[in-house]
Amino acid sequence: MQPNHSRASGPAIVLSTVMLLSALLWAQGCTSPGQRRSREETRRVILFSWDGAADWTLREVLERTELPNLQRLVDEGALADGMVSSFPTKTAAAHAMLWTGRYGHQSGITANSLLLEPAADHTRLETQSGFFSDGLKAEPLWVTTARAGLTTYALHATQSYPYEATERWLRPGSFDHLQMMNAYTPISRSPSAFTERSHPPASASGWSVPQAQFPGAREISLQLDEDFWWGLLFDDPDDPTIGFDTLGLVTSKESRAFDVVLKPGLDTAPSKPIGLTHERGTLYSTLRLLDLGATDASYILFLSGAKFLSASSPLYPGAAGLATEAYAGNGAGGVYESGAFGATIPQGGGGTAEDRFLVTLADLTGQLRDQARRIFDRRDYSLVILYSPVLDDASHAWVGYLDPAMPGHDPALAAALWPKLEAAYRLHEILLEDVLKAAERDHANLLVVSDHGMAGTNRLLNLNIALEQAGLLTRTAEGAIDLGRTRALHLPLSEVSIAINSTDRAGGIVPPGERQAVLVEVREALLILRDPETGQQLITGIYESSTAGPLQPGGVTSGDLFVDLAPGFYPSDRLDQDQLVTITTPKGNHGMLPTRQDMLAIFLAWGPDIPPATRWPQARSIDVTPTVLELLGLPVPDDLPGRPLAGD
Ligand SMILES: [Zn+2]
Repeated sequence: MQPNHSRASGPAIVLSTVMLLSALLWAQGCTSPGQRRSREETRRVILFSWDGAADWTLREVLERTELPNLQRLVDEGALADGMVSSFPTKTAAAHAMLWTGRYGHQSGITANSLLLEPAADHTRLETQSGFFSDGLKAEPLWVTTARAGLTTYALHATQSYPYEATERWLRPGSFDHLQMMNAYTPISRSPSAFTERSHPPASASGWSVPQAQFPGAREISLQLDEDFWWGLLFDDPDDPTIGFDTLGLVTSKESRAFDVVLKPGLDTAPSKPIGLTHERGTLYSTLRLLDLGATDASYILFLSGAKFLSASSPLYPGAAGLATEAYAGNGAGGVYESGAFGATIPQGGGGTAEDRFLVTLADLTGQLRDQARRIFDRRDYSLVILYSPVLDDASHAWVGYLDPAMPGHDPALAAALWPKLEAAYRLHEILLEDVLKAAERDHANLLVVSDHGMAGTNRLLNLNIALEQAGLLTRTAEGAIDLGRTRALHLPLSEVSIAINSTDRAGGIVPPGERQAVLVEVREALLILRDPETGQQLITGIYESSTAGPLQPGGVTSGDLFVDLAPGFYPSDRLDQDQLVTITTPKGNHGMLPTRQDMLAIFLAWGPDIPPATRWPQARSIDVTPTVLELLGLPVPDDLPGRPLAGD
């Protein structure tokens, strides 16, 4: 769905003028990206993944607002007419496709969660994460380039952690060329917000800081992860604000000076990283005072999420300091939706809650920028892989209200929320600024890609209830799936696959000879599903696992049938209630058919080897690895299913 495609005449004229202009500059051999790389110069590629950037939201945002850096990529580089990614369109699977150039049945990463192997030892209810390197069966791009002796940096690349898994492919000598850093590990803390309701201020007593003597000073006690902190809310005489204007924090009331001093508002800097005790060690967060009532000491104190940063080698730029560096990992989407940032726009708020959420994304962006800068400062790279979750976080929160195909779409609400998604895209301008500067300086080719699109959903389709109603699934007395009496189930993988409970996996009861008949029964059970309210058909497509064709869903770690759903619906394996459809708050979601317009990912390219002002036809995620290899002058393996879109 690309809401503005048909009414694009105004901006399209502007675009074509710019394209013409850039083509002219190009013809005159003027500046980058036309500036040619000399023969002996290192070939370089920067591959930047924007998690959750949908082709349709990118196009809509480019029409609504000015994003000079992104616009520069479009005007001076190549933009594909969307990109088809993995089926299901889930982050881990789609990234594995970007990194390996292979479908899930070969890469092993069939979704965000995988059925455990070996199949004979594990049932269809036992899963593992698809984000880690353990599940990866095909060689990722960073291994190929490092083996070829090209200095490679992979920053937060899915399936790069744990780093030891790389030893399967790389000889010890080639490790020198590969530097990985990743924070998306199980060691993390979620963000949280503290307010006067959750932690009411009391009169200050027993403090050693002089500010506690100020008239009216109030104190709060806070448990931050496993540590206790004290906060003092007071009127700073050096601050022109009359009333409460400052929060000072200490770990002990005996401290004579604050450890952290915070001023309220969104245009301040976050605190320095503070180390807090966590069950798995010390994790570093930042604090922000998002709001402080001058008269009533009402407040919103935000503690960022924290992820444990680690590098594959002590040679990684800045590795020595990583242990005390703060990295939030994600923005505070959950806190925003809980209402702790105030009423959201859909709840009748005026946009402040959204701006508070955006500030958490801005802090995350700053952290990513600093991490990337250390790599670019080295200038020794051939390949840099970067990742940002900013647009995925923002799109999950807002696309449920922005998607015009969503049943019950409210144009007024969408109009109020579009500027917020635009602001999330604008955060990427900050990152692009640095990346473009480095690419220009180093004559690097820059590829900006995403893993999947985003669609609005406000209904869960409880597929296992449907299978139960068709007599294909049976629950135990406790309400769980009884594998001993279940012939087909929607797998607990948070995606769209349904499996026949066949005997090739532990717990299976369907013998090979009966598999086909059960498949037919499942199809029939799914195709008759209708929305209880509207009578609309709920399953709009059923696809079998396959090792040929454009989709190729499935594999030993996944299911047998993959479904696409009517607009507004998202699949669920819930069994805690009996109705087929559960109403939810509107959300952005992904996982559906990758060729659907709203599931299309993005692919932009810019640099000395990219034809300027080019519109590429629809790309595929499997084309990204061959494109990177070609741009680096490395051979493209014959058995890769994709093809290079640029290079010589
Ligand atoms: Zn997502």
